Amino acid sequence: MKAVTWCGKQNVKVERVDDPKIINSRDAIVRVTSTAICGSDLHLYNGYIPTMGKGDILGHEFMGEIVELGHDVHNLAVGDRVVVPFTISCGKCWFCEQTLWSLCDNSNPSPEKAEAMYGFAPSALFGYSHLFGGYAGGQAEYVRVPFADTGPIKVPDDLSDEQVLFLSDIFPTGYQAAEQCNIHKGDVVAIWGAGPVGQFAIRSAFMLGAARVIAIDHYVSRLSMAEQAGAETIDFSDEYVFDRIMDMTAGRGADAVIDAVGLESHGITPDALYDRLKAAAYAATDRPHALRQAIHCCRKGGTVSIPGVYGGLLDKFPLGAAFGKGLTFRMGQTHMHRYLQPLLDRIRNGDIDPTFVITHRFKLGEAPKAYDLFNENKTECIKVILKP
Ligand code: NAD
Ligand code: ZN
Repeated sequence: MKAVTWCGKQNVKVERVDDPKIINSRDAIVRVTSTAICGSDLHLYNGYIPTMGKGDILGHEFMGEIVELGHDVHNLAVGDRVVVPFTISCGKCWFCEQTLWSLCDNSNPSPEKAEAMYGFAPSALFGYSHLFGGYAGGQAEYVRVPFADTGPIKVPDDLSDEQVLFLSDIFPTGYQAAEQCNIHKGDVVAIWGAGPVGQFAIRSAFMLGAARVIAIDHYVSRLSMAEQAGAETIDFSDEYVFDRIMDMTAGRGADAVIDAVGLESHGITPDALYDRLKAAAYAATDRPHALRQAIHCCRKGGTVSIPGVYGGLLDKFPLGAAFGKGLTFRMGQTHMHRYLQPLLDRIRNGDIDPTFVITHRFKLGEAPKAYDLFNENKTECIKVILKP
């Protein structure tokens, strides 16, 4: 089959590789019909995740048709159309039973490396390096889905791929980020990053009752997309974000803030990141630091919600301000399995049409061009879909 492989920093290829096979009785093989590139894939693309191997298959946002099933999967049938959550969960461990799906204890078959590096072992993700289980990703014609009896959700025929594809990650991720803000009627929610995750966080915050949403970014096209959802916007390249937010909230600050940016806003290079990880001395840089700014812009007693991805240590974290303001921090990988059915229902009810975020569609074979565009031209490109 054809698959998109990681071949080094800013180097992806479309290569012929072996078709995946059923390995365990709870596996499924999915023929991928649509897949997308995520901001998290850019962390791999730009070389931030040290345990990618040359030839590893990328991709964690995908959907398709079941073509083969292990003999212990009884809730799906060959021919079913499914969306697959990007987090892999066994469904049976203590964490899965608490619905803390993305903290599953069993899905990562080789946790030692992560433990040595981070002091804990994350659960597994599709197509996201050997820190996260080393599973092949879904930017391919076929993919093996482990624990297929707990993850994939069947989707009705009357909804197109593009309407449901983002249930695989960015819609639930934006939604969880907003839900974790514990939004009360009348709240003001400020969101750093108007990328795909930020866009879904904006719409989710409104769905959950926010009176006002403030979106912060420096790409005019992304800020315009935020405005279309009813958000007020701040361009951080020509305004002082803190002053503007204080003006907009009568000096009080936002009731909740969301960092939908992640580590790349810290302007640190991957090499420096490893050096600092090794030296355990991770200093911030002079670049705008979304999380630090978000903490300062959050009102006393407010909530800081962080879907943006971080790894390792983060220095110059204003713990004094966070403590003094009595802030609540919520963060982490999305508990995907919680949101699939409720958000599918929202799409069916017409509360949201997720296709709004798509700006580009490519064939799978054009993946190198698509990665380059999504990485380099965030003005034109907001979300890319690949069609195997
Ligand atoms: P993206 O790279 O397309 O968007 C990030 C946006 O942040 C860009 O528009 C950029 O201009 C903006 N930005 C950069 N610095 C900023 C600053 N200082 N202030 C305000 N905005 C700033 O990525 P995306 O697909 O939207 O993903 C966003 C983050 O969410 C990434 O870190 C990604 O890894 C993470 N993510 C997390 C989960 C999860 O489960 N927690 C799932 C998916 C994605
Ligand atoms: Zn993603």
